[in-house]
Amino acid sequence: MAVVVMKFGGTSVANIERIQNVARHVKREVDAGNKVAVVVSAMAGATNQLVDWVRELSPLCDAREYDAVVASGEQVTAGLLAIALQSAGITARSWQGWQIPIRTDATHGAARIAEIDGGRLRARVEQGEVAVVTGFQGIESDHGRIATLGRGGSDTSAVAIAVAIGADVCDIYTDVDGVYTTDPRVVPEAQRIARISYEEMLEMASLGSKVLQTRSVELAMVYGVRLRVLSSFVDPSDLPAVDVGALGDIGTTVCSEDEIVETQVVSGIAFAKDEAKVTILNIEDKPGVAARIFGPLAESSINVDMIVQNVAPDGLHTDMTFTVQAAELPRALKVLERVRADLGEFEIRSSDDVVKVSVIGIGMRSHAGVAAKMFQTLSDKGINILAISTSEIKVSVLINADYAELAVRALHEVYGLDAQ
Ligand code: ADP
Ligand code: ASP
Ligand code: MG
Repeated sequence: MAVVVMKFGGTSVANIERIQNVARHVKREVDAGNKVAVVVSAMAGATNQLVDWVRELSPLCDAREYDAVVASGEQVTAGLLAIALQSAGITARSWQGWQIPIRTDATHGAARIAEIDGGRLRARVEQGEVAVVTGFQGIESDHGRIATLGRGGSDTSAVAIAVAIGADVCDIYTDVDGVYTTDPRVVPEAQRIARISYEEMLEMASLGSKVLQTRSVELAMVYGVRLRVLSSFVDPSDLPAVDVGALGDIGTTVCSEDEIVETQVVSGIAFAKDEAKVTILNIEDKPGVAARIFGPLAESSINVDMIVQNVAPDGLHTDMTFTVQAAELPRALKVLERVRADLGEFEIRSSDDVVKVSVIGIGMRSHAGVAAKMFQTLSDKGINILAISTSEIKVSVLINADYAELAVRALHEVYGLDAQ
């Protein structure tokens, strides 16, 4: 017997027929004697619709009311799946965030889970009742209001529930049968990765591979949760029920590095289209200037990612380029207008017509030349690099958005990731 968390994303619960298919996946586990908690997303498109309605009324609305609206999609699917399971003769009950409760901080729209008291849920699951939990939402502790975890947050709900009930495995069912070397929708030659380390998956997710929410991977890594990515779009009888002693290599297993026998120098290519570039021209080149620019941005909770500063040709003035999330660009520009009043005249240019492309792999720690190969490949394609950043296991470049797919395809091929 295993305790299993099964998470189903939006496309997996997009209509009644698919919800019935999800019920069959759950039944397979129940029939095998496993104890199951299910975490569900809203039906595909439902959350976007809710966000659009809120924005139409008021683009800068009260974040608590935004959460009250956008959390509702998951409530519908949790109830519907509980009904589908009951109709299939399975004892099941839906649970909303506040009923468990899943406690979060008060950062509405991007809340972090603070704690989950999994005792009651675990007891019900152990008695054989399937718990169907709404993903994406919790209850904040200050005022007891609904809070959502940020887009894609149901993955994080699933891992957190797995920790809270001490599950043996957390299976993320989606519309692809695993994590691929890059988004298979962009590069059809992409290959499924049977095993990927938490560190690499964390980089892939945070650099744009939204198959898993970054925070879910972080949580899984900290708590050592065995995380798998599987497809719900297969006949439920074609997948084996969870057997902790023999999990096999279906889908993708996200695990610790020492469980991976053969490591690649480059495991994957990620890209993020939601970045924006800001260039500040003609600022003084003297101590304290960077602090006076990035300090106010940080105080406004605007995350800055890549930063490039040029040398000052005249020894007095220089230029600086950095990136922020595209959604944060208008706020960042407002902050910079204030900085200009303080720092003196400088010119600001911005564009969200950029994409960040990254190559990722733990093998980079011990292999030189990965970055050089990346730059050469982009140069061969005539693609100009606007900014670069690196870490121990990734190299990222910022390029013009028009070249995103060309760059990803070329890099995928040059690092030997294309399927034979
Ligand atoms: P869900 O609704 O199930 O949460 P998502 O749309 O959030 O599904 O994530 C699945 C999608 O992630 C896939 O359809 C795929 O296009 C995209 N994706 C991006 N990068 C990758 C990758 N490296 N491997 C697999 N899928 C990826
Ligand atoms: N429904 C939410 C979203 O679309 C959460 C999720 O699907 O993970 O972002
Ligand atoms: Mg998702």
